[in-house]
Amino acid sequence: MNRRSVDQHAAAVAELLRPLLELPTESVPLRAALGRFLPTDVVSPIDLPNFQNSQMDGYAVESAAIQSVPVTLPVAGVIAAGLTDLPALPRGGALKIMTGAPIPAGADCIVPVEDTTAADGMVTVLRSRRTGEFVRNAGSDVQKGRPLVTAGTLLGARHVAALAAAGLTEVAVRRRPRVAVITTGTELVAAGTPLLPGQIYDSNGTALASSFEANGADVVRVAHSDDDTAAMTALLDECAATADVIVTSGGVSMGDFEVVKETLLPLGGHFGPVAMQPGGPQGLSVYNGVPVLSFPGNPVSTLVSFEVFARRPIRAISGLPALPRQTRTLTADISSVPGKRQFVRGKFTENGIEPMRGTGSHLVAGLAWADALISVPAEHTVVPAGVDVEILVL
Ligand code: AMP
Ligand code: MG
Repeated sequence: MNRRSVDQHAAAVAELLRPLLELPTESVPLRAALGRFLPTDVVSPIDLPNFQNSQMDGYAVESAAIQSVPVTLPVAGVIAAGLTDLPALPRGGALKIMTGAPIPAGADCIVPVEDTTAADGMVTVLRSRRTGEFVRNAGSDVQKGRPLVTAGTLLGARHVAALAAAGLTEVAVRRRPRVAVITTGTELVAAGTPLLPGQIYDSNGTALASSFEANGADVVRVAHSDDDTAAMTALLDECAATADVIVTSGGVSMGDFEVVKETLLPLGGHFGPVAMQPGGPQGLSVYNGVPVLSFPGNPVSTLVSFEVFARRPIRAISGLPALPRQTRTLTADISSVPGKRQFVRGKFTENGIEPMRGTGSHLVAGLAWADALISVPAEHTVVPAGVDVEILVL
C-alpha cells in the first residue's frame, strides 16, 4: 500500500478540518469567556470613564482661584465617590472630593490633600494647579462606540476586566470545536470495573479527551464501542449528530476485528500506513458530513497521533496561538529505523533532552515520564548525542 509521509498525512488532516476554521460565534457570560477567541471587535457602549472625576483625594477648586499660594478658601461640602446629587462649586470656594467622585460644576482642577492644610471649615492650598490637573475626563480611556477589545484577541483577565468596566455581561466568542471520542476494542473496560483475564482499562478515552480539551476543544462525548460494526455505526450516528469532529482509537491496523476500518473504509475513508513510528496506521474519513480522524489503539500511538496530526489544527480552530518550533540538544544517541519518522519520548535535563530507552507503543506509564517527543527524520538511522533535534513539547 502506498505509504504517506507524516507531512502528507498532516496536510490531509488539516485540509479535512479546514472548514472548521470558520466556526460561528456564541455569546457567553464574561466569567466563562477566559481563554476564548474574540472573532470581532467589541465596541464600548459607554464612555470610559463615564463621567469627569477626580484622580485624587483632595479639593475641587477653580484653578484661577489658586494661582497665588498659599491661599485659604472656604470648604462648601464633601463629594464622596458614588454621590449622584452633586453640589456646584461656589465661586472662590472649595469642595472636598474623594478619588473617583464626580467633578462638580465650576471646578476645573483638583488639589491633592497632601498639598493642603485644613482647619475650621477652611482649606489652605499650598501649591497652585492648572486647569485639568488630577481630573480624569469622560472618554479619556475609551470613547463610546470605539473598540474596547479588538478582533483576534484570546481573552485574558485584563480583557474581560475592560468588558466588565463597560457594563457588558456577555461577549460573543468563537464557538469551541465540538469533539466526540470513540474508543474501540472488545478487550477494554472502563475504570471502576474489576478486570477479567485478558481485559485492560480504556486509557485512550481519557487521553484523547484531555488532549483535545487542553487545546481549546469542547469534548461532547467519550464513548466506547466493542469490535462490532453495528455498534460502531450506531455510535458514529450519535456522535455525528452533535460533534464537529469525531476521533476514534484502535481498529485501524492489519489484524482481524479492525472495527473502525471495517466500518469506514466501505464509506470511502482513507486507511493506510504513514511513514512514522509509533502511530503508523492512520485513517481519515467523513461520516454524515463530519470529519473522522482514526488513530491506532496503542496508547502511545494514540497520543503521538494527536500531537503530530490533531494538536496544531485544533488549536487553530479554537483560536489558540500556534505552537512555536522548538529544538533541544540530544544527551544520548538515538538509533532509528530508516524510512520512517520516529517520535522518541524524551525528558528535559539541564543539558538538553534525554531519549527514553524502551520504544514499545504500549508503554503508557513511560509516556507519562516524558516531557516531549523527539522527532527523528525518516532518512536518519542514527542521531548522535550533542545534535540539536526538533521536539514536540507534550
Ligand atoms: P488496536 O489498534 O485496536 O489493534 O489496538 C492496539 C493495542 O492497543 C491493543 O493492545 C489494544 O488493547 C490497545 N488499546 C486499544 N484501544 C485502547 C484504549 N482505548 N485504551 C488502552 N489501550 C488500548
Ligand atoms: Mg482493537
